[in-house]
Amino acid sequence: MRCTFCEKDAVLRLRHANLRLCPEHLVSRVEKEVEKAIRKFRMFVPEEKILVAVSGGKDSLGLWQILTKLGYRADGLYLDLGISGYSQRSREYAESFARDRGLRLFVVRVEDEVGAGLDEITEVLRGSPCSHCGTIKRYIMNRVAWEGGYAALATGHNLDDEAATLLGNTLRWDLAYLARQYPVLPEGRKLVRKVKPLIYLSEREMVAYCLIEGIRYIYEECPHSRGARSLFLKDILNRLEDESPSTKITFLKSFLRVHKIFPKAPEEELRDCPSCGMPTGAEGLCRFCRIKERMRERAPA
Ligand code: SF4
Ligand code: ZN
Ligand code: ZN
Repeated sequence: MRCTFCEKDAVLRLRHANLRLCPEHLVSRVEKEVEKAIRKFRMFVPEEKILVAVSGGKDSLGLWQILTKLGYRADGLYLDLGISGYSQRSREYAESFARDRGLRLFVVRVEDEVGAGLDEITEVLRGSPCSHCGTIKRYIMNRVAWEGGYAALATGHNLDDEAATLLGNTLRWDLAYLARQYPVLPEGRKLVRKVKPLIYLSEREMVAYCLIEGIRYIYEECPHSRGARSLFLKDILNRLEDESPSTKITFLKSFLRVHKIFPKAPEEELRDCPSCGMPTGAEGLCRFCRIKERMRERAPA
């Protein structure tokens, strides 16, 4: 199988884009697609400082590599969630990536912030680990980005992630979530802009990109993701894609074209949390401080 653009052998066939790519042309396509998304959605400009949320996985480390190669000023943030075994291993990948390339990586331990890691938090507060994790991640990442003067926080959500989220939101016709699902969420009071520069790139492209670029990343998924609904939705989309290539990209791009028809919820009135000073829509303590307080009291929910 020959590359669509040159005489070399192709290493990846992308049926949805009707392309066969050699390593060199695959790298150049991936980087171009990221630059295209950044410009189209006006995510950020080269003068702005970006913080990349890195998990040690292929998407976030690949994204960090792409942004630095494209000349953006990007630092990394690794959040050590305190998930037994998994957090230590994923942290090593994030740290060695940064060390090898002389990049700046912030490491924040949830245990230092909350007094316990996610395993213990879930044991004490019950409920789903992902729901506590979501609150904690959103809060700490935003706070670190805001305190560090970063213009935007970039995450490694790829085409497969976004299409699965879109399918989930559509199956429920969740208008509020559909209105919020966009590659850029603008900044607000003490809230840093959130951007997803990988939205046009599939998981397969990111895997191939990391292999070619020599990026070592953690293969295993977070143990709490097993059985997650998002994996089931991804599987359904993969089956559709097998039958009809370009299902995912068409689904996502068509949605983004009509996105403005989804009514935006009225701006939530934000106030400063009396404990940490970060913005919250809740009366009293923000959700993060409430977790902290409940952990201090060690009271079940
Ligand atoms: Fe957090 Fe793991 Fe759940 Fe993802 S799967 S939200 S990392 S606990
Ligand atoms: Zn080629
Ligand atoms: Zn707070």
